Amino acid sequence: MDMDVEPVGVEPVNRKRGRGPLLWIAGVVVLAVVAAAVIWGVVGRQDAGGEASAAAGTPTVTTSEPSDEERMLAGIDAVLKARASAVLSGRLPQYLQAVDPKNRKLRQSHQQVFANLRMIGVRHLSFQRDARWAPEPRAQHGPSARTVRVLMLVQIAGIDSSPRAVSLGHTFAERGGQWLLVADDDLGIESELSGGYREPWDLGAIAVARKPGVLVIVPAAERRNGERLARESQAAMPGVRSVTRRAPAGILVIALADRQSMDPGWRTGGHPAAAVAAHNFSPANPEATEFMVTGSRVVINPGERREADRLLLAHEFTHAAMASLGNGAPTWLVEGYAEYGELRLAERSGYRRGVDAHRRELLREEIPRRTVLPIDGVFHGEYDENSYGVSWIIVEYLAEKYGLATVNALYADLARGDDDPAVREQVIRKHLKVTEAALVAALKKYDGPA
Ligand SMILES: [Zn+2]
Repeated sequence: MDMDVEPVGVEPVNRKRGRGPLLWIAGVVVLAVVAAAVIWGVVGRQDAGGEASAAAGTPTVTTSEPSDEERMLAGIDAVLKARASAVLSGRLPQYLQAVDPKNRKLRQSHQQVFANLRMIGVRHLSFQRDARWAPEPRAQHGPSARTVRVLMLVQIAGIDSSPRAVSLGHTFAERGGQWLLVADDDLGIESELSGGYREPWDLGAIAVARKPGVLVIVPAAERRNGERLARESQAAMPGVRSVTRRAPAGILVIALADRQSMDPGWRTGGHPAAAVAAHNFSPANPEATEFMVTGSRVVINPGERREADRLLLAHEFTHAAMASLGNGAPTWLVEGYAEYGELRLAERSGYRRGVDAHRRELLREEIPRRTVLPIDGVFHGEYDENSYGVSWIIVEYLAEKYGLATVNALYADLARGDDDPAVREQVIRKHLKVTEAALVAALKKYDGPA
């Protein structure tokens, strides 16, 4: 598996265009590795506690005098360590101690981030300098200034099953014998792990709303919308659990007004997605050179944040529950499953007739025209199509005919595997005992749930 490139799951349902037609945009996250930097970083890899770290298997040399580079890296690592422990223990002065005292704007923004992280509630926080990334000179901040790539590993209490990686570019400079943080936006690398969006604690004053297993982040002035979304999230949860047979530890819902909370690349059918289940990546090894998906957070389009309801959330939560199984499942199953979770809840929320009308139309207009299952590459196009609706019908048919347990096992097996057509065909045969062609033929005879 190529861990350098990971797709970000996107879960759109656009309410303005009516039901169904949503697209799956694969925002590609590239974990850039600068090969030339490998030697550089390893040398001074000794943290403030004096604990030699054998990154990349290179022993740390301790017999000679430390070089300038080693001293610099040790100084930066000590600052990073102090800042992480300051957040965990609630000591703002310690957090700001190494932030350039002459840069008022930078200090203010870090003070806000500190307050936000404290409000969110952090169980684990650490900053890990990327030893493979060569520190880059930044002459505009003085001769000693270097930008380093830092992984922020943050685990939200009661929500995340493990620390989520956020990529940062921090610039440090030596002033009067002390290493200071002088800029935090010098490299365009902060978005590599998260796609093109900013973390919710980076976007000004926030408020949070909590329910068991749910944390909603909203702008400071929108506390009531946060409470509403927390209630809607709770209403969505039981149905999602019964469909997916999975119970994530907790889920983070982000409903900010700032457009930067969303990746502009999250588009579907020619318009921005209403919401997205964005993967949480966690390091798969101590050096953080490989990452795995450990969950998802749900990001609501700022323009939809006041309308987003339990149905939209049920769709996204279904994706979130299935995310850590892997990326190999075909899009029709990924989206069809989420639609199935959403529309089952809709039927139980007073929309039975609407759901039935939608089903009838798809069975009459769309299913007869299909000759193959929806294809990944054209699932999300520039125009609204009925890919979502058709996928929902397929999953509903499978759940009716084979039972949800079989659909679930099929999903898990496909998700784990390659997205190779031959592999998929084999897995479908194993679970459903039919070929894809026979499945499509059987769909045409489907007449809705019994
Ligand atoms: Zn979706």
